[in-house]
This record gives sequence, C-alpha cells and structure tokens, in this order.
Amino acid sequence: METTLRGVGVSHGVAIGEVRHMGTAVLEPPAKQIPAQDAEREQGRARQAVEAVAADLIARGNLAGGEAQAVLEAQAMMAQDPELMSDVDRRIAVGSTAERAVYDALAAYRALLAGAGEYLAGRVADLDDVRNRIVARLLGVPMPGVPDSDEPYVLIARDLAPADTALLDPALVLGFVTEEGGPTSHSAILARALGVPAVVALPGAGELAEGTLIAVDGSTGEIFVEPSDEKRAQMERAAAERKAALSASSGPGATSDGHKVPLLANVGGPADVPAAVDAGAEGVGLFRTEFLFLDDSKQAPSEEKQVEAYRKVLEAFPEGRVVVRVLDAGADKPLDFLTPADEPNPALGVRGLRSLLDHPEVLRTQLSALSKAAQGLPVHLEVMAPMVADRTDAKAFADACRQAGLQAKFGAMVEIPSAALRARSILQEVEFLSLGTNDLAQYTFAADRQVGAVSRLQDPWQPALLDLVALSAEAAKAEGKSCGVCGEAASDPLLACVLTGLGVTSLSMGAASIPYVRATLAKYTLAQCERAAAAARASDTAEEARTAAQAVLSGE
Ligand code: PEP
Ligand code: MG
Repeated sequence: METTLRGVGVSHGVAIGEVRHMGTAVLEPPAKQIPAQDAEREQGRARQAVEAVAADLIARGNLAGGEAQAVLEAQAMMAQDPELMSDVDRRIAVGSTAERAVYDALAAYRALLAGAGEYLAGRVADLDDVRNRIVARLLGVPMPGVPDSDEPYVLIARDLAPADTALLDPALVLGFVTEEGGPTSHSAILARALGVPAVVALPGAGELAEGTLIAVDGSTGEIFVEPSDEKRAQMERAAAERKAALSASSGPGATSDGHKVPLLANVGGPADVPAAVDAGAEGVGLFRTEFLFLDDSKQAPSEEKQVEAYRKVLEAFPEGRVVVRVLDAGADKPLDFLTPADEPNPALGVRGLRSLLDHPEVLRTQLSALSKAAQGLPVHLEVMAPMVADRTDAKAFADACRQAGLQAKFGAMVEIPSAALRARSILQEVEFLSLGTNDLAQYTFAADRQVGAVSRLQDPWQPALLDLVALSAEAAKAEGKSCGVCGEAASDPLLACVLTGLGVTSLSMGAASIPYVRATLAKYTLAQCERAAAAARASDTAEEARTAAQAVLSGE
C-alpha cells in the first residue's frame, strides 16, 4: 500500500526507482596483536593504503572538477596528515595490525574534531569516509560507497560524503535520499550542481527495504513508498511537463510582463563555468573563491595562481557580470593560516570578512590578483565581502578595495540579521547587496546549517527570513542600488518568484537550477509575484508561506 514520507527537498526533479542502500557500515578490524618483527611490514602496508586512498580521492576530484574537487582534495589531505601517520606508526610499533592502527588513530582524531564543536559535524563525516576507505583497502574488501548496479536506482544513505556525491552517475542514480544533512549542507549543494533530484533530513529512510519501489519528489521533499500506478503516472506527467517547459525557455530571466531579473550562476572555480554557460547564465552571481584555497590550508595560493583562476572565470562572460566573493574562511571552511584554532563557537567567531580584516595582506593579495585578472577584459567585475555585520565592516572592505585600486563595484553580503536590519546604513559604503540566505537563516534562527535535526529552521520559506529579505531589498531600492540573492533560496523556482515580488533584483544559483527558475518566473507577472510575496509574508510558518504563495500563483 502506498505510504508517504516527508523530508526536505533539496534538488528538483522526480525520480521513480528501486531503493539501493549505500555501503556505510563502519568496518571494525579485530584487535589482534602482531609480533614485533612484522611491525615494519605493517607500517609499509598502512602507508601504501593511505597513499592509494589519497590518490583515488584526488582522481575522483579531477573527474568531478569544481567545488567537488576542492572538497575531495581536502579529504585527501586529511588522509595524509603527517601527525596521523605518526600515530598509526606508533600504534603498529606496540603491536597493532595496520588496519586496527588506522582505525584507532582516526577514531582518536575524530573524537578531537567532534569535541571541537558542532560546526565540525560535516568534517567528521568526511573523516569517517576516509577511515572506511583506508580500512576497506587494508582488509581487501569492497570500498564502502555507491553500490555496484547496472540498473538505475534511488540511492539511500545516512549522509553522503562529498567523495560519493561528486561521482554519482546521473544515468544510474535516479535520485537520492538521506537521513541526515540540511538544505544548505555540502551534499545538498553538490546534488544541485549535478542536477540529481534529492531529499535530505528524512529520518527512517535507512529502514526502507532494498529493492522497494519509491518515487522521490525533489521539490516538495515527498517520498511515496510503493506508489500506486495512478501516483506514478501523475508524477511522470508532472516531470514531463516540467521538462517541456524547460526546453521551451531560454534567454534572459524575466517575468511574463518583461520585468527583468538576471539569472546568474554560483561557481567554485573555472571547472564550474561550462555548466553555467550551457545553462544560459547571464553571468556569475557568486564566485566562492575559498574553494581555491581549500586544497592547502597552510598558506594562501600565490597571486599568480589566483590571477589565472579568476581570469578563466572572467573570460567566460565577456559582456556579463561576475560577482567575486573574497575569501570566506572559518566555521565549516576553516583554513589553518587564517582561522583561530581555539574558538569556542567558530560560526560566531572570526570568519569571513573578520578573518580578512585580521590578515589584511591576504585580502590585499586577493584584490590585487582580481584587479590584474580583470585587466583589459570588458567584463563587469563586482567584488563582495562575506559576513558583513555593519557599516564599519562595509567601510573597511570598501577602503581595502579602493586602496588596491580595484576597478569594480564593491558590495556586501547580507548574511547576518544586523546587516538586513541596517541595510541602508551599509549601503552608504557599498554599491550593492547580495543576500546569502544560507547563513542568514543560520543566524536568524540560531540553527547550525550542518545539523539535519534543525533543518526545519533553515527552510528559506520561513516568514522571518522573508521579512529580512524584504527589508534589504526595500533599503536597496530607496538608495537606488541593487540587491540580489545568491543563497540556495534562489534555486527554488517558486521561492524565486516570491523573492522577485519582494524586490530582489537578481538571482544566483547552481547552474542546474537556472532553467527551472527561468521557466517558472516566465509564467507570472511582477504583480502576481508581489501578491505571492505578500501572502507568504502574511503566513506564520514556512509550510503555510509556501502553500499561500502557490495558491496565489495558481490563481486559487
Ligand atoms: C550563503 O550563506 O547563503 C552563501 C551564499 O554563502 P555560503 O553558502 O558559501 O556560506
Ligand atoms: Mg555564507
């Protein structure tokens, strides 16, 4: 009999197929003792396994490219950490097998990370994945991860490590469902980049029996277990209609009555550019430059390396707009050379612009690299700072840009509620605002974006978040300046209409979402979007806001 489960839809589309579970079992090798004369051989085996796993992660990264590559390379570095290797050697020297030594050393490292605060939850999942890979290799058993199957399937996992998400084959993996993870977690962002329908934060997904037929709606977050023929037909029809609407839509983003809303792409580096160009992005609305820094957390990339990467992205949009965000390190993206090691609560500590103001030389180099990269190109370069709290922050950033002689527009991200509340004051210093709704939700609701248990509060349909968007957009309008959205909220087609109705002037998202947003926006007039926005803001919950906006737009 058909039953319905509800999680959080994070990547659009419909997938109907049989359940296959991810091989996530933690392999615990037996704790047996080895004779002293075997220690050297075991140490060699451990080293070989670590090198092989690191090389495999790097190879997967090269294949995947973009943000995924940076994440996988960071994972490879975790595996090769010299202190970790010394710990493994020490454990083998006192009688551990190679597999047990790796298992125990990584368990100790894990405890250290987990104890350093909740913000490291995402890193702990990455570390578990590294441990499983090395131990599986040493035991000679299949690697944990995506199941081997020739038939397409819906993948179920507790959480997906970036290494697996990056390599999901869209031809085989029809969609995926996870028990953990929030809408703005790494896995969700990568799923959208791949264009695979996905639902996260669905407790109990792990209990679905292997081979069960399910239908996944990545927009609503609904899972239909053993769907009726009628339900399948209905979902397939809806998916086909969407596809037809998508292929019919092209050109710049606009409402049906011609109100222009540029649709821009979020990129992590040059590797993400082709997908953005294919999707018809009118430029880049968020270039997450920290992904260029993550592969070596000990030092910043040289100015030359930065110039090269920035230029590749700028060249791809000759007449378009490219908004580059300066380095956003800290919290879930710590960098050794910038991020204090001993913060009690790093999401509330020295991160984003705060780190850069403490390390002006890093900001200076980045701005100078950007200036050189843009030289001679007709591109409209815009540069913005993450985590701007107030006018003092905005002024410090604008001053740094001016001192670097940067020919660009300077902007501030609105990610902290104080910035939305005092947007007019911030706009005295900068020329545009860009709403980072992922962090804005995190800070408005005091809900860590890495934690699945609080995903209800990260829902960008929350009316309180919409109020802050409205405040920012109204402030920008009053100052005659622009206010875009570059957080994941912009990738929800219905919400994109509401954001437009709230006065947002551009929308930036993962390339795979652009056709969906373009097609939906083109169906409604600006006045309809404004009415939908008012109805959403008049609601009390995210659920009601979504239903109210939908009702207005479908003319109910
Ligand atoms: C945001 O916070 O909404 C944002 C766009 O930045 P990031 O997701 O990289 O923190
Ligand atoms: Mg952010």
